[in-house]
Amino acid sequence: MVADKGKESHQHDVLKSTQTVIHLALDKLGYPEEVFELLKEPVRMLTVKIPVRMDDGKVKVFTGYRAQHNDAVGPTKGGIRFHPNVTEKEVKALSIWMSLKCGIVDLPYGGGKGGIICDPRDMSFRELERLSRGYVRAISQIVGPAKDIPAPDVFTNSQIMAWMMDEYSRIDEYNSPGFITGKPLVLGGSHGRETATAKGVTICIREAAKKKGIDLKGARVVVQGFGNAGSFLAKFMHDAGAKIIGISDAYGGLHDENGLDIDYLLDRRDSFGTVTKLFNDTISNEELLELDCDILVPAAIENQITEENAHNIRAGIVVEAANGPTTLEATKILTERGILLVPDVLASSGGVTVSYFEWVQNNQGYYWTEEEVEEKLEKILVNSFQNVYNTAQTRRVDMRLAAYMVGVRKMAEACRFRGWI
Ligand code: NAD
Repeated sequence: MVADKGKESHQHDVLKSTQTVIHLALDKLGYPEEVFELLKEPVRMLTVKIPVRMDDGKVKVFTGYRAQHNDAVGPTKGGIRFHPNVTEKEVKALSIWMSLKCGIVDLPYGGGKGGIICDPRDMSFRELERLSRGYVRAISQIVGPAKDIPAPDVFTNSQIMAWMMDEYSRIDEYNSPGFITGKPLVLGGSHGRETATAKGVTICIREAAKKKGIDLKGARVVVQGFGNAGSFLAKFMHDAGAKIIGISDAYGGLHDENGLDIDYLLDRRDSFGTVTKLFNDTISNEELLELDCDILVPAAIENQITEENAHNIRAGIVVEAANGPTTLEATKILTERGILLVPDVLASSGGVTVSYFEWVQNNQGYYWTEEEVEEKLEKILVNSFQNVYNTAQTRRVDMRLAAYMVGVRKMAEACRFRGWI
């Protein structure tokens, strides 16, 4: 109970700090207070109960959520998280971040997010299928290819997207690949979706390095988290000639000044992004974040860089692949110290960008090659980085506030043109 309370209040902070920055961004852009009143919470939040027949014959009732932050620009879009710690507030905050990401990379969407309180690590394949299908039946009235388009998130994958797409197609009595993204290629998935987030982060690192005059060849990089985002990112940076001197997972970190063998680590990590358990000589995650390096990439969980350790960060550039790894107080400290911080809503927007490409391909029924996808992603992220960077320079604000200003503007304008505010 105490732990649950702690989790709730922590998530309240995440929602609160997002609202604080949105408020600041709207003030800087000159919007009146009612715009903040509309955008500070999702316009729609559905809570559902999902009864699932478990393998032992008993029925277990799960709780799920779907938040739609704002649908003025277009349908809402965002992943579905399966995790024991999912809360209503977390889903709300994540849906707001999705709106900001869509605004920053200029997609015709608002933000959405879903979650189910469950632990997929303790469930069988068939139980997961029944839960996935039950969730779609429960939320079917508010989702759809032109309403709200889900995608994978923590502990959900292309198989779960395939079951969900099949269930929705049955309800709709129509084949609806555009209902969900992150599907397997044979069901209308897009090339490049699996690595899209890491590709996007890599592009942001490259652009940030140019601004700071850091050569990626030989640059010393530290990556916290070795899951989908962190491991592919480490590989891409390694391939670009950088030296990955530190990586970590939930159990600890590895450090080698001469560079770690990334291909070997990728080969040995498990499907939950764990690899350090295989080694004796490890360091803590706290030590890892304070290593002397050129580029630091938090790619694990929230609240890793706080006012307690921000003064000890020795990187020239911090690029947030994870959602919410740096607190607002730490953002201020890093910026004052001249460290270039590329915020989550910009750095991790590659995933939703390629999800958008998948939806476009589904709608047009014509599919692109991996090269075409990568070329389009590159163009969008370079422009978005430049846009946020220029806003930070000309408005004399930090990169996070600049990203929020860029991200919130289109949404606010769409609300205004529709006559909502
Ligand atoms: P994942 O579950 O695949 O991997 C998470 C990694 O973080 C694992 O290596 C895990 O061991 C590590 N980790 C967990 N708890 C930790 C702790 N307390 N300290 C240090 N390491 C810890 O997740 P992912 O998909 O790689 O996502 C990582 C972050 O990136 C999350 O914040 C997620 O929201 C964000 N993100 C991911 C994507 C994506 O497409 N995967 C897109 C946008 C944002």
